[in-house]
Amino acid sequence: MKIGAHVSAGGGLSKAIENAKKIGAECIQIFGASPRQWQAELPSDEETKKFKKLRKESGIGPVFLHSAYLVNLASPNSFIRKNSVENLGKHLLIAEKIGAEGLIFHVGSGKEAPREQAVSFIVSGMKEVLKKVPGKTQLILENDAGGGGKVGGIKEMGEIVKKVGSVRVKVCYDTAHGLEAGLVDKYTPEKVKKLFNEWDKAVGIENIAVIHANDSKTLAGSHHDRHENIGEGEIGVEGFCALVAEKRLKDLPWILEVPGFRGEGSDKENIEILRGIAKRVKS
Ligand SMILES: [Zn+2]
Repeated sequence: MKIGAHVSAGGGLSKAIENAKKIGAECIQIFGASPRQWQAELPSDEETKKFKKLRKESGIGPVFLHSAYLVNLASPNSFIRKNSVENLGKHLLIAEKIGAEGLIFHVGSGKEAPREQAVSFIVSGMKEVLKKVPGKTQLILENDAGGGGKVGGIKEMGEIVKKVGSVRVKVCYDTAHGLEAGLVDKYTPEKVKKLFNEWDKAVGIENIAVIHANDSKTLAGSHHDRHENIGEGEIGVEGFCALVAEKRLKDLPWILEVPGFRGEGSDKENIEILRGIAKRVKS
């Protein structure tokens, strides 16, 4: 089980490797470009070379990119949909260029529109993105906290994966979002087993590429996306014990996206807490 975190790539991609080393992250997630803008620039050849060299020397990996916040392939607004496809394509191209394993993005929200329409927009958007950027990099759908017309129930995720029908399409399971969406009301060994049986049936367990390991500030079923430090939220230490004990998840990269104990994002303390839990469960 590899434990890592979302780290800042501010000041250049290669900085992300330095930041990962500082907190003891074995795998990382970064923004390949600004998450708050529609436009996205490819990193220079020089910066890319430096990043790849440092990554190789550090042994850090896999590397995931996280898409911009603006992206919503399911939007009923055609302007947003068009920009989302374009922006996601650019980020996927960046991922491909720097040799990242995949680009993670939120499934999206159809707002008031019927679910079938939202799902069909997501499917066609993803197909377009994959066609724009041929290669090996995975396009990874992340489950969300639900509510507000958000798509991302287990069955919907399965439907999307099947309909896009590409080996490059994978899924990211976020532990906080799963609880907030009410996919599970508590992570106990029995409930975790049942939950991932459901994922296996709908999506295929082999299609889960990565875990976002976050505790949740908000209650199960709240539909309110607020991450918390590991063990300090509604999932708690016991919940993470049940999650890390699930054998089907043990070979996956676990990426933290937590506020951190100094409010500066995922830190060494959080990584060590999760590592400690994993060690305890194993022994
Ligand atoms: Zn996440």
